[in-house]
Amino acid sequence: MSDKFVRAIFPGSFDPITNGHLDVIHRGLKLFDELIVAVGRSPLKDQLFSPEERVEMIAELVKGLHGVSVEGFDGLTVEYARQKKANVILRGLRSLTDVNYEFELAMTNRSVTGIETIFVMTTEQYGFISSTLVRQVASLGGDISNLVPENVYRRLRERFKKQ
Ligand code: ADP
Repeated sequence: MSDKFVRAIFPGSFDPITNGHLDVIHRGLKLFDELIVAVGRSPLKDQLFSPEERVEMIAELVKGLHGVSVEGFDGLTVEYARQKKANVILRGLRSLTDVNYEFELAMTNRSVTGIETIFVMTTEQYGFISSTLVRQVASLGGDISNLVPENVYRRLRERFKKQ
């Protein structure tokens, strides 16, 4: 390995962050000097948590992790990466179905700005977890305690108790 300083961003919706995302963060940390978890603030169709709430939950989780920070961003991911002087975009892969979409995204981002995307594969046990699945199961009162961190679990329970 060279001694080049590598700052990566890990962009996503994180609505909410799951154990799968957290696994990607821990793996990314082993590869990069600095990792910024970047929460997209553009309005989502089926948004459950506000961007501020999503950032807050992630901040609670990465508090003790040296080199990791979290913030919200608007607009293009590549533009945000440039602002942050990041050399790498980190993305997670769950299965082959992720590959097509991620491949196109990574190629587009590289052709626009030259930035490289690095993929890490999740632990098998998290391969099926998505934020969409978590939102759906939680809304129906299912047990999602194995799919998300404790703080997210509590927030989901509160959110759906109110409805
Ligand atoms: P986006 O809307 O940008 O896809 P997500 O929050 O859904 O945002 O996902 C952010 C990144 O995390 C994506 O690269 C996605 O493939 C990855 N990811 C999501 N869930 C998992 C998981 N269970 N294991 C590994 N990577 C995941």
